[in-house]
Amino acid sequence: MNSKESPLYLNYSENERDSEIERLQKIEWDLLVIGGGITGAGIAREAAFRGLTVALLEMNDFAYGTSSGSSKLAHGGIRYLAQREFGLVREATTERNWLRDKAIPHLVRPLQFIYPIFSERNVGGRQLPRSKDSVRKIRFAAFLYDLLCGFHNYGSREVVKEKSLRELEPAFDSTGLVGAVLYYDTNLGDERLTIETIWDGLRTGLVCVVNYMAVTDLMLDSAVKICGVVAKNRIGPSDEAESIQVRAKAVVNATGVWTDRILEMGQKPEVKIIRSTKGVHIAVPRSKLPVNRAFGLRSLDDDRFFFVLPRNDWVLIGTTDTDFSGDPSECYCNSEDADYLRRTVNVLFPDAKIENDDLLGSYAALRPLVYEPGKSESEVSRKHLILERSDGLLTIVGGKLTTYRKMAEDLLLDHLKKWIKKGYPKFSTRKGLAKVPYTVALSLEDWKNSKVVRNSTLDSNILRHLYQQYGKGGLLILRNLEGKTQLIERLLTEYPTNVCPWILGEIDYIIRRECPVHLVDVLARRMEVAWLVHPKYQGKIAGRVAQLMTNILGWSEERKDAEIQQYINHVKRNSFFYEGEIATS
Ligand code: FAD
Repeated sequence: MNSKESPLYLNYSENERDSEIERLQKIEWDLLVIGGGITGAGIAREAAFRGLTVALLEMNDFAYGTSSGSSKLAHGGIRYLAQREFGLVREATTERNWLRDKAIPHLVRPLQFIYPIFSERNVGGRQLPRSKDSVRKIRFAAFLYDLLCGFHNYGSREVVKEKSLRELEPAFDSTGLVGAVLYYDTNLGDERLTIETIWDGLRTGLVCVVNYMAVTDLMLDSAVKICGVVAKNRIGPSDEAESIQVRAKAVVNATGVWTDRILEMGQKPEVKIIRSTKGVHIAVPRSKLPVNRAFGLRSLDDDRFFFVLPRNDWVLIGTTDTDFSGDPSECYCNSEDADYLRRTVNVLFPDAKIENDDLLGSYAALRPLVYEPGKSESEVSRKHLILERSDGLLTIVGGKLTTYRKMAEDLLLDHLKKWIKKGYPKFSTRKGLAKVPYTVALSLEDWKNSKVVRNSTLDSNILRHLYQQYGKGGLLILRNLEGKTQLIERLLTEYPTNVCPWILGEIDYIIRRECPVHLVDVLARRMEVAWLVHPKYQGKIAGRVAQLMTNILGWSEERKDAEIQQYINHVKRNSFFYEGEIATS
């Protein structure tokens, strides 16, 4: 890995991965993190900012697990107020504000939400139940929501009546509305937040990260303390895959729903600590569900809370919350999950009539909740938990995408700090030390004022997309386009730029700098193409991107074909709604 131009722009492609694997084995790391989701990414960044050397091993791709399948919000979780989780809401709203205002403002964007409250009413012959919440209660909740973050929310909250809501949201059936509360949270890209968090740590020069490197065992020293891990490289033919040993003074298990599997290594856990629940999302074009704001709705089936979330010219609908006990890598949205969401949306937005044919994509993810006997899925706390085992293994579970920095800080300051007395390397223990902007952070104003943006002839939707997804990285993408006409080409021209803003130039940037190993890594975990583009176009996209990867990384034709097939299988598994062909040309 090298950073020829400036520390901002590290080159780290698949071709540099082998040298990173060598680097992994050269020293004893101060901290080794198992898991490259947002929790592991946050810990690596936090520890490196505090001066520790860090190795991060991920058995699949970065953000492979829950961290690319969330509702993609940095939010305080207004619904947790009903569960009296005031501490959690304060923590989450405070972190949300930091992400939105300072850390990475191009990626974390304010989004207005509506929470409607109904009296009993009849819609389309169906008797709808009266909302359990009252306007007073919700108005107070919205006030508390702002109070808990020191009134630093974006915009102000308000309560509107039926007539106003009709004007604000004509697609929504406001009949019987008692009132609706408007408040703000934020939209983000969870996979990009995870990647940028890892790369922000990498830029310190103290971190080594390797994807497709599975931890298979824990190493113990003569005092029966953990002194490293055994890991297997999952790239290349499996019969050639060798196990390597990576030494470390401390090891953190940040493997989300896989936590119990790591705990089983070395020592049997007394009880399982993870309870996985599945949550799905479906995506439709915004023209199909023309909302102007996000909605927090209660399901007409069981009164559960879920969202309708506009993202530029698409709308995401989700999520569900059902217990899941299968293989975490085989978790998909099915028609039953989608029907649950559609039933309520199609009643409350009567003209939407969302059918399978209207869907663009779907995805599912698992919540790594801490097991709490006797509680229903939605009642289980979203608070995080840090455990320290007698052999020194640290395990961190639960929490939220939004609170990853605070989780990492708690691990370092409430746990590792105590180890310093026992000879662990000294590190900076100042609270809030890593609460600084990401290196790629860029304000909209600075983006618009930059010369390369002002001189660009690209369509405004493409420019908006490059800014939102990459921040300062977007400036580099634009600079790199100069004289390279192929990179200006759009990924797909069948859609207009508002719903298909991707260009080959950003894919070139990802391949060279963000170490995707497989085609699916680019399209599902660096970009949102895998679930925002209809499956019928995915074969064509796969062919184009695989060719670019072949040109840059020197893949063989055989490898290219295998990568395309692997990606198409990924799309098929996530497209219960489409039975047609996925042609590759
Ligand atoms: P993961 O992202 O699952 O990462 C764990 C990683 O460990 C995986 O990549 C896995 O491959 C790796 N791993 C496992 N075993 C090994 C091994 N042996 N060796 C090496 N690596 C290994 N939070 C919010 O703040 N906002 C939201 O809008 C939101 N929406 C959500 C919606 C849904 C449907 C769900 C399920 C969760 C949502 N959350 C949200 C919660 C949030 O997404 C999760 O708390 C967070 O992503 C968990 O991250 P993680 O890093 O702990 O787990």
